[in-house]
Amino acid sequence: MNSNELPAAIPANSGSRGTMVESTGMPTQKADQPILVTENVTMQFGAFVALNNVSASFESNKLTAIIGPNGAGKSTFFNVVSGAFAPTHGRVRFQGRDITGMAQHEFARLGIAKSFQITNVFSLLSAHENVRVAAQMRQTRFELLRPRADLKDLIDKADALLHRVGLTGLRDKRAGDLAHGQQRCLEIAMALASEPRLLLLDEPTAGMSPEETLAMMDLITSLAEERTVILVEHKMKLVMGICQRLIVLHHGEFLAEGTPDDIRTNDEVKRVYLGQSA
Ligand code: ADP
Ligand code: MG
Repeated sequence: MNSNELPAAIPANSGSRGTMVESTGMPTQKADQPILVTENVTMQFGAFVALNNVSASFESNKLTAIIGPNGAGKSTFFNVVSGAFAPTHGRVRFQGRDITGMAQHEFARLGIAKSFQITNVFSLLSAHENVRVAAQMRQTRFELLRPRADLKDLIDKADALLHRVGLTGLRDKRAGDLAHGQQRCLEIAMALASEPRLLLLDEPTAGMSPEETLAMMDLITSLAEERTVILVEHKMKLVMGICQRLIVLHHGEFLAEGTPDDIRTNDEVKRVYLGQSA
């Protein structure tokens, strides 16, 4: 199915809730402050400029989509804001703090989690074991020295996360034997194990059947009621019904931003998408 055929009835996310974060020793955020800001971010690979001077900001507890044709720089943008790449120029701020150039595990510790464009699970482990490993990696070295009884906490947490993404019935199945859509849900459960404040999802519906796509869109909508979600998607119409704001990248440049209506009627965006199965 082409995304044009998706029903328009997927409800828009109900929107912003309180933006003060609980006291955990993490940077706190003023209510009206964006959770993530990029300032003039440029990413070069040799002479090739994959992102050129991209400045964008993302509000807390909203679902924002980054759209743009293949090769626009969307995954590169995610790699920069998840700490995989340090930008060649520019700054990245998370909850008001400059995190440019910090190590990737620091990004995770601050509450930024990313699920990749390509499926990334341990195929020989069960669904439950995959999530448990992800939950375990979240623990500090001190916590790893705690008694075995605490393993029950990890087991329960993994079960709760599997339930959250609708995989309870497949708990003990090997991840490699799950359907593609189920593997993507499993990856999201693994990303949620770090209890992120900001969840980055790179083309979570890539390669999915129409049914899997609708289920994933429902899951993303519900996840965005609990935290900030940024979604990368090259099929523009797919995200129109569920996100509150869109940012359009094209050839590594910031092209436009706005509500779904703003973007739908933007002439430059229409031109960029002309002839594509958006
Ligand atoms: P999108 O996710 O929008 O399809 P990408 O961010 O993956 O686009 O890629 C943008 C451009 O940057 C592409 O031309 C791609 O070939 C290039 N690119 C991405 N990552 C690298 C890299 N690690 N080394 C060299 N070129 C890269
Ligand atoms: Mg990509």
